[in-house]
Amino acid sequence: MAERMLQFVRLNQQTPDKRAASVRREDFNEIYDEFDTGRATQQASRCSQCGVPFCQVHCPLSNNIPDWLKLTAEGRLEEAYEVSSATNNMPEICGRICPQDRLCEGNCVIEKGFDSVTIGAVERYITDTAFENGWVKPVKPLRELAQSVAVIGAGPAGLAAAEMLRKQGYQVHVYDRYDRVGGLLIYGIPGFKLEKDIVIRRWKLLEEGGVVFHLGADIGGAVSFADLRGQHDAVLIATGVYKARDIGGPGSGLPGIVPALDYLTTSNRSNLGDAVPSFTDGTFNADGKRGVVIGGGDTAMDCVRTAVRQGAVSVKCLYRRDKANMPGSMREVKNAEDEGVEFVWLAAPEAFLGNDSVTGVRAVRMHLGLPDASGRQSVEPVDGSQFTLEADLVIKALGFDPEDLPVMFGEKALEVSRWGTVSVSNKTFMTSMNGVFAAGDIVRGASLVVWAIRDGRDAAAQIAAYLRQNATAAVAAE
Ligand code: FAD
Ligand code: SF4
Ligand code: SF4
Repeated sequence: MAERMLQFVRLNQQTPDKRAASVRREDFNEIYDEFDTGRATQQASRCSQCGVPFCQVHCPLSNNIPDWLKLTAEGRLEEAYEVSSATNNMPEICGRICPQDRLCEGNCVIEKGFDSVTIGAVERYITDTAFENGWVKPVKPLRELAQSVAVIGAGPAGLAAAEMLRKQGYQVHVYDRYDRVGGLLIYGIPGFKLEKDIVIRRWKLLEEGGVVFHLGADIGGAVSFADLRGQHDAVLIATGVYKARDIGGPGSGLPGIVPALDYLTTSNRSNLGDAVPSFTDGTFNADGKRGVVIGGGDTAMDCVRTAVRQGAVSVKCLYRRDKANMPGSMREVKNAEDEGVEFVWLAAPEAFLGNDSVTGVRAVRMHLGLPDASGRQSVEPVDGSQFTLEADLVIKALGFDPEDLPVMFGEKALEVSRWGTVSVSNKTFMTSMNGVFAAGDIVRGASLVVWAIRDGRDAAAQIAAYLRQNATAAVAAE
């Protein structure tokens, strides 16, 4: 093993510098600076090159982390990029927004006693450097094949599948109802976690590689699913989950109470330079308002931090459990706290107050009861503990469910689970309809970008196998 590895005993963990909260509150740019070459090399050299690398085991893409850390430590960055990009279609995006504390870094063995290797930051550094040096090239198939695939949805699952299929020479057409490529990467996740030119860069690269994008194409709406299926040899459904879970109760229909994703999409569009009337007229804008966000997941964290940047006079996050039981990443909670967000733990809304528009939330204190069958502690209201939070904007961030795809696509034969996610064979990724495959959140339910990429890659391999089989059968029949 190279002398320069195993430096964790000598070198402390250093994460990339974070811009001061008072500065980053003022814009939507990413909050972490990039590693410079010296720090990336040093931090990569902390890896102890484990024989059984638990970091890799816990990376959904099984990234060959020890190898690209070693190559980085040795200054062999182009090779590090080759290794890193062999298993991941968007390493620079995962390096930025994977919850590393729960995945690779959280399972790094030197975490015990020393702080983990900063895997995500090095991964980001490798691919950003590769882009700067022109090492990232569009896909170039060795030969063109006649068969074509329709991918519905230009989120990470659809994009990963599109790239893998195009690499093999298939004609790939990606359809999306949005006007930009990226799915939640472009319109859901705010710029302070993932700047949009990073996503657009991937979009342009795929176009250069011959992937054809059909934007503003609402499948099941203006474009029928049956037509699409008739035009292509295989179809991949990668439509994500978009039906917002709602909250009822008195006053829940008042103006000023808005769903999280509409709020975040408006903000992202406005930051991308679009004219968005619902932002300009204040409907989806927290500027000068007292904001209350309901929920405790990553979407809620993105909403509170967006509201801070829009100029809210105060931002509170209402969550019915305590900090330790929050589903959102602790890293994002800390970032939000530093930026001035106030968390109201163990509290749930009972009613929304106001006449013409919302002016407050009446909430009740909760306490954690005994664990239920799933092992999670139940929550129960504390009698007589009601209190009021003043609010001019209430953002509901309670999670997402799938839309009713069999109805939307007019395809009763498309089987879905009891939760509405599309059912697929876990070996072939094929749905109940021949030649129709599915991947990403629409199969798993709301999940992570890294899992969407993994599913997109696996589904692409199965689609290629299906197309090869059909092509062979067609030749045999001639
Ligand atoms: P999506 O990204 O949702 O893409 C689906 C695409 O399909 C969209 O572009 C949509 O327009 C299109 N579409 C849908 N229906 C149709 C139709 N009928 N016709 C045509 N097109 C259609 N994950 C992380 O790993 N880290 C994070 O920090 C993180 N933050 C998040 C923040 C927010 C606010 C949200 C909501 C999610 C976040 N996630 C995060 C989760 C992550 O974004 C998703 O798991 C991932 O994007 C799912 O990828 P996908 O390709 O399955 O779907
Ligand atoms: Fe870690 Fe995500 Fe990169 Fe895997 S893809 S190594 S989990 S940051
Ligand atoms: Fe290196 Fe940590 Fe992975 Fe071991 S678990 S190979 S020390 S990054």
